[in-house]
Amino acid sequence: MTITTQLHQLQQRIDTAARHYHRDPTTIRLLAVSKTKPPSAIETAYQAGQRHFGESYLQEALEKISATQALPEICWHYVGPIQSNKSRAIATHFSWVHSVDRLKIAQRLSDQRPQHLPPLNICLQVNSSGEESKAGVDFSQLPQLAATISTLPRLRLRGLMTLPARSSEFNRQRYPFQRLREALEALNREGLQLDTLSMGMSNDLEAAIAEGATVVRIGTALFGPRQR
Ligand SMILES: *Cc1c(COP(=O)(O)O)cnc(C)c1O
Repeated sequence: MTITTQLHQLQQRIDTAARHYHRDPTTIRLLAVSKTKPPSAIETAYQAGQRHFGESYLQEALEKISATQALPEICWHYVGPIQSNKSRAIATHFSWVHSVDRLKIAQRLSDQRPQHLPPLNICLQVNSSGEESKAGVDFSQLPQLAATISTLPRLRLRGLMTLPARSSEFNRQRYPFQRLREALEALNREGLQLDTLSMGMSNDLEAAIAEGATVVRIGTALFGPRQR
């Protein structure tokens, strides 16, 4: 199937899930995760109306950002792991970062965000499955980290992101997303103004939409399987 067809099917999948859970589909953004896919795939999706693209590997991302700079409305989101020595390039070339999970990185992104650009939009990545090996801040550390990061001048803290352990069972998929939504609501009760829940991928977007996702990050269901 072509990318254009897959994009339309995906939009229908999002619309159907939104209606089922009494949500306005226009409040759910599709983020096309284009990692490992060539610039031509990004251009095809752009021509079909897609504007937001996500990448996980910095070097590869920078090449594609450069190759697609003629597309006027394209908006880049970084969703991958962040090493300190990569923070400057991330702060310079992206509009959003979904994978911040420690203060040191947030501080660097704020310090390094170029003055001529608007503040960098940030989501804090939360380790919603409690596995030691997983990236992300624990729920218990989240309030402190969010409060501190929300004061950094060149960042705009927008919300939370999670990448849970895979499951094929709907209620198991839904549980970590429920916890993420509740964590966001708790932060907002403490005075933050967060509007973004970045959760749900190709195989669990319905469960994420059921729990209030405002960004679903989709790779495989749009671009097909990845080789690596
Ligand atoms: C690769 C990736 C996705 C997309 O996953 P699919 O299962 O292919 O839809 C979403 N989020 C992050 C952080 C990723 O690295």
